Amino acid sequence: MTGIVVAVDGPAAAGKGTLARRLAAALDLPYLDTGLLYRAVGRRVLDADADPRDAAIAEAAARALTPADLDRTDLRGPMADMAASAVAAIPAVRAALLDFQRAFGRDRGAVLDGRDIGTVVFPDARAKLYVTASVEERARRRFLELQARGVAADRSQVEAEIRDRDAQDANRPVAPLKPAPDAMLLDTTSLDAEAAFAAALDLVRGRLG
Ligand code: C5P
Repeated sequence: MTGIVVAVDGPAAAGKGTLARRLAAALDLPYLDTGLLYRAVGRRVLDADADPRDAAIAEAAARALTPADLDRTDLRGPMADMAASAVAAIPAVRAALLDFQRAFGRDRGAVLDGRDIGTVVFPDARAKLYVTASVEERARRRFLELQARGVAADRSQVEAEIRDRDAQDANRPVAPLKPAPDAMLLDTTSLDAEAAFAAALDLVRGRLG
């Protein structure tokens, strides 16, 4: 590994994506949203009318993934969220996506966000952030985001879905959601987006020296 790799992990709807994208711009590094890979695999399986827990179908979908899959506009929403989380629990799917993630960060470095970047994909990342917020606050933010996009949503259902997805991601045997032992924890419950970014940049710069 030659470039600087910054790992940003954490539970659903913690604001990792926005934070990681802004960190990448500030540090002049490429950015990869690794959740999109799992979402695109889940979407391919749903398109085939198959069950996202079907290991053989999901692995084939992961191996057939193309860059165009990541540009699809239907990778978000409750169905896509749960399909992504279901395929992400399948070891063969994770194995199929690992090389791409490592190759992305290897030469020029990168900021990657996901669930297992600091624990599995880049255990030697120079800086690791574990970004979280209370589940109520994450649900509130996700609900407002859906409203802003004109998507009808029920706040308590949004919270229930986040709880389900976190439980599924944290309890799977392979690459479960958890902070790396050397991750810097950032709880954004009481921080707005600006304050969260400032805190994240301080932490990462402190680690990069
Ligand atoms: O980050 P995002 O919410 O888009 O991720 C969607 C799903 O993909 C997560 O709930 C998780 O199951 C899976 N995922 C993962 N490992 C990653 C990134 C995402 O298991 N590095």
